Amino acid sequence: MAQTAEMTPRERVAAAANLQPVDRVPVLPLTREFGMKRMRITFADVYADPQKYVDSQVAVFREFSTDGVFDLYFMYPEAFCMGCGGLFPDDEPPSVVSGLVNSRADISSIKRIDPAKEPRIKFHLSIVRGLRTAVGADVPIFAHTSAAFKNAVHLRGSAEALLDLYEDPDLMFELLEIGLENALVYAKALKEAGADYILLTNPVASSHMISRAMYEKYSFPFEKKQIAALHGYGLGAFYHYCGNWNDRWDLMAQTGVDIMSLDSPYVGVNMEDAVEKLKGKCVYGNVDVARTMLKGTPEDVYRETATCIEAGKKADGFILGSGCTIPRDTPIGNFAALMDAAQQVGSY
Ligand SMILES: [Zn+2]
Repeated sequence: MAQTAEMTPRERVAAAANLQPVDRVPVLPLTREFGMKRMRITFADVYADPQKYVDSQVAVFREFSTDGVFDLYFMYPEAFCMGCGGLFPDDEPPSVVSGLVNSRADISSIKRIDPAKEPRIKFHLSIVRGLRTAVGADVPIFAHTSAAFKNAVHLRGSAEALLDLYEDPDLMFELLEIGLENALVYAKALKEAGADYILLTNPVASSHMISRAMYEKYSFPFEKKQIAALHGYGLGAFYHYCGNWNDRWDLMAQTGVDIMSLDSPYVGVNMEDAVEKLKGKCVYGNVDVARTMLKGTPEDVYRETATCIEAGKKADGFILGSGCTIPRDTPIGNFAALMDAAQQVGSY
């Protein structure tokens, strides 16, 4: 559906999310390390000075006129603050050393997040505040928290958690409650810092990791609670479904999620299919990050982006984006080709 007057990025994204007419397709690629590389900064540089990350993302936003900015996402600060250990390489994102909870007795050792006191949380909040100061009120800010299920799996360790789904459901439900509570405490603080949408991720609940039945039993009910709470705080829910979730799209759509971010064609996710099956939802995606953005030519990127937009325009709501985070070494010409296609093909 078209609407003629030019919208602000905030209006454009909100209209797409609410299935209302937009002036053109909103564009929101995930540019964390792509933007950092352009500014020649590493994760270690960002830990020392979070404003450097803010500047790197605002530079991409200004140069390419995207429709929003993302915080330093996929860093899992809740897991670290709850007590999980981690590895923090200088030039790679951190990884969580899972398995804090080896038995039920360890549950009492899980820390509850206090955003006012926890330096790691304050670091992320300062990035959100910095983004707001830089982009002003007309641009939406997306900030990451884990889904409750992801937090539970971090606490327990992947292999143990996957066994618990069968052997110790009660323990998993306890960890889910704690994972939810901490994700929400953090989300509320992100809202107060200036975030508009929470970018949720939960890669351990894809079809690569658990069955549809297990998703429905464990993750799905907590996603519904989490998203309802986010809405209560005045936040939107942008859920990035990392990996292949094709066999559970109908359930995902029932969680109340506002924007459904779908992974790359490379993992078997097809935008035309999604548009047909996800009626009444805003879908986001899904230019292939590895095969096309990183390794393709600008012509490949343009062609795939144009095809994606043509499919997406038939959706009830559509936002153009990347199938996952855009790889650090993506050529600038490929990123520019995505934005060119968005401009040339993205009008309604
Ligand atoms: Zn992903």
